[in-house]
Amino acid sequence: MTSLLEELLSCCSASQKIQLPWLIINSLFAIATQILKYLLKFVTHTSSLTFFFLFIVNLLDSRTVMGDLGWIAYPKNGWEEIGEVDENYAPIHTYQVCKVMEQNQNNWLLTSWISNQGASRIFIELKFTLRDCNSLPGGLGTCKETFNMYYFESDDEDGRNIRENQYIKIDTIAADESFTELDLGDRVMKLNTEVRDVGPLTKKGFYLAFQDVGACIALVSVRVYYKKCPSVVRNLARFPDTITGADSSQLLEVSGVCVNHSVTDEAPKMHCSAEGEWLVPIGKCLCKAGYEEKNNTCQVCRPGFFKASPHSPSCSKCPPHSYTLDEASTSCLCEEHYFRRESDPPTMACTRPPSAPRSAISNVNETSVFLEWIPPADTGGRKDVSYYIACKKCNSHSVNGVSDQNPGARQFVSVNVTTNQAAPSPVSSVKKGKITKNSISLSWQEPDRPNGIILEYEIKYFEKDQETSYTIIKSKETMITADGLKPGSAYVFQIRARTAAGYGGFSRRFEFETSPVSVAASSDQSQIPIIVVSVTVGVILLAVVIGFLLSGRRCGYSKAKQDPEEEKMHFHNGHIKLPGVRTYIDPHTYEDPNQAVHEFAKEIEASCITIERVIGAGEFGEVCSGRLKLQGKREFPVAIKTLKVGYTEKQRRDFLGEASIMGQFDHPNIIHLEGVVTKSKPVMIVTEYMENGSLDTFLKKNDGQFTVIQLVGMLRGIASGMKYLSDMGYVHRDLAARNILINSNLVCKVSDFGLSRVLEDDPEAAYTTRGGKIPIRWTAPEAIAFRKFTSASDVWSYGIVMWEVMSYGERPYWEMTNQDVIKAVEEGYRLPSPMDCPAALYQLMLDCWQKDRNSRPKFDEIVSMLDKLIRNPSSLKTLVNASSRVSNLLVEHSPVGSGAYRSVGEWLEAIKMGRYTEIFMENGYSSMDAVAQVTLEDLRRLGVTLVGHQKKIMNSLQEMKVQLVNGMVPL
Ligand code: AMP
Repeated sequence: MTSLLEELLSCCSASQKIQLPWLIINSLFAIATQILKYLLKFVTHTSSLTFFFLFIVNLLDSRTVMGDLGWIAYPKNGWEEIGEVDENYAPIHTYQVCKVMEQNQNNWLLTSWISNQGASRIFIELKFTLRDCNSLPGGLGTCKETFNMYYFESDDEDGRNIRENQYIKIDTIAADESFTELDLGDRVMKLNTEVRDVGPLTKKGFYLAFQDVGACIALVSVRVYYKKCPSVVRNLARFPDTITGADSSQLLEVSGVCVNHSVTDEAPKMHCSAEGEWLVPIGKCLCKAGYEEKNNTCQVCRPGFFKASPHSPSCSKCPPHSYTLDEASTSCLCEEHYFRRESDPPTMACTRPPSAPRSAISNVNETSVFLEWIPPADTGGRKDVSYYIACKKCNSHSVNGVSDQNPGARQFVSVNVTTNQAAPSPVSSVKKGKITKNSISLSWQEPDRPNGIILEYEIKYFEKDQETSYTIIKSKETMITADGLKPGSAYVFQIRARTAAGYGGFSRRFEFETSPVSVAASSDQSQIPIIVVSVTVGVILLAVVIGFLLSGRRCGYSKAKQDPEEEKMHFHNGHIKLPGVRTYIDPHTYEDPNQAVHEFAKEIEASCITIERVIGAGEFGEVCSGRLKLQGKREFPVAIKTLKVGYTEKQRRDFLGEASIMGQFDHPNIIHLEGVVTKSKPVMIVTEYMENGSLDTFLKKNDGQFTVIQLVGMLRGIASGMKYLSDMGYVHRDLAARNILINSNLVCKVSDFGLSRVLEDDPEAAYTTRGGKIPIRWTAPEAIAFRKFTSASDVWSYGIVMWEVMSYGERPYWEMTNQDVIKAVEEGYRLPSPMDCPAALYQLMLDCWQKDRNSRPKFDEIVSMLDKLIRNPSSLKTLVNASSRVSNLLVEHSPVGSGAYRSVGEWLEAIKMGRYTEIFMENGYSSMDAVAQVTLEDLRRLGVTLVGHQKKIMNSLQEMKVQLVNGMVPL
């Protein structure tokens, strides 16, 4: 800088002849030096910043070279280096030239060889000051304000001494800012920065050259660099250092490499811009299973954690009931006794097989079964419990369910269901009888396997090839005559049998042809048909008249010419309802009761029976449970009723009478008779075993434990059994929950068919004024009043059974006396709805209790209605609301009103809820008046959580609230 200033001063003094006082010159010199030092510091600072932020690699920075730069000036007196140092005593390589006063300047400054390090495009940043020619005293014609920059490519350092004209010009460099004397005076020295780029370079390195043609320049620093996109990890792919392309607008596509423990999801790519920036990332890598992403790396999952797939975001804790002891786990192992299905995701908890479904009930509707159960208490931790219903054919006496718990990952349970009687097998042989031109008579054999009592046959026939228009005849006999047929035509017949279990399959098709019309007969003997017809009509009329006369005396025994139970129906793609069938035979009609027993019941050898324990007491002796082993069959549990020793002949007859009746029935909801022991003592009746005993006791024991659907299922079973009995023409007379038995599948069966039962057996039966013994609370008014026992009076009793079931075995009319019950019912009062009873069911009860017995529903209607409710459970959601219950609840059925209890404790004890006394007292319900205000919510709050107990307490409270004397509201 000193030389520059000297030059400047010398130029001024020489060419302009301006004499500056030494004082001023000295001060200018000092100031300029300081300013230059300041500028250099600034340059150092900004260049390092630039380097930091831009992805730049320096090939040369004149200011950081500590020793000799090795640059050459030509001619020697042109560019000269100024040996300045900065405040850290680091050398500052500054070159200057200021031959503004001389003509034809051509001063070259050549750098040493600079390796391009593989870059094909390099940048040159120059920092320099340049003197404004106008500011020179007097103005100088030779003064320039630019200089030129050149380069020459070469693979090595040998090309340095080439001629100037071999250099390629990069650019002419002009100053944005040139400085003047004034600037020096203002202590401002303007430093210019100019950047030029060169490319594409094809050799390993190059030289730069700066040509001065007569300017006053100080070249403060020269920096040569290239740009690159620096190594980076993006989307778990590592992209290497990438030197930018040769072209300023070029984007280089670069492929990334997945980092350790990662895998390619979609090939990772990025683009390196000419400015050294990474642009447009495409694709990505994912940490492989067992590893998770953290800070752009893939870290191993610790023991106890797992990652199942590269696509899972991170390691997760092992789900419940699973574990892993290893690092990098891709799944966890199930703990002992826990499993996982193949289809379960590894994120799902290991689960156990569920426990068995509970309280399975089956309702048999002829040949179909409706099954219902409560889900298993323990679903093993799964929500997707599915039910596999295995329909296994067992031998007729044993039902053997298998609880098939797969120890593996699949979990399923099969439910034991009671199978029912099979439908009859098809009729196999059909014989033709008499054939005329208009009729065909047929007869056939009973099916090989009737599987029950055959109630009737259905004969379907149609003219060959006219199948859509067929006729159906029903017959109880094994023969029929189809008449009204076309002469000389082929007809197809099929026959099937019906038992209580429904219809069996149709037989194969039998084809018979009617006789052809005889042409000769019709022409030659044209008079004969008229005579025949006249005679026939006469005979028929006579027969009708005689029959009519005889029917007055013998109608019970006489048979109409056409069997009234043989019905003919014509179908054309349609259906017709069956008429009722009466087949029950009263054993009383047998002169010898033993004959009746042996007609309807099998004799069992006593040695086949093992008695195990006493389970109840019947009128004639003990009732035991035991096992029956018949030849060729598996042993199975049975109930055994015994006739106590010392019986009278009448008692024996009555005792076996029940078997004579029961043996005629074959229905899944009627207790099934296995047989009798009459040839040895004790005399026994053996029936199927019903694990849960009588329904009333069972319900009381399980108060509040069933769903409404389950209760309706029980009722449906009872109704179905009763429909069967009424179809058979049997009137039960003592239908009550105590006479219904219930098995382990909650299938209810009607029992108690004793002949004298209504008179003596039933403890509920009371003597009426007319001398009969009748279970008053269950019996229809007309049966009580004038012993009119019919299926309609059974329907009344069924309504009472419904009420018993829905109130879990509550006693109908509570403690009212029989006389009060008779009176109240006669006056039109009816039982109120049980608590929480669906409105549809209570309505059905009220229908069963219609005074006019013809207005009561029939059992088949009851069955269909219950089926409808079961099929559509939402119809059971509407309950009889509490207020209408209360308004209906006008029976004073509690022994006494609230006033009758002296304390809350006494009241609770009386209804067997004494355990809550303390809680009631502690919560301020210490008087009966206070208790009267208790609501269901209050009970729940007090901790009375069992539904059965809530019902008991609320029922009792409501009973106490209603203080009507002696009866119920009229319907
Ligand atoms: P019964 O004489 O028919 O009223 O029977 C008396 C008691 O014996 C009934 O209340 C039942 O508890 C029991 N019982 C009768 N029959 C059976 C059966 N088939 N299975 C189980 N328990 C029965």
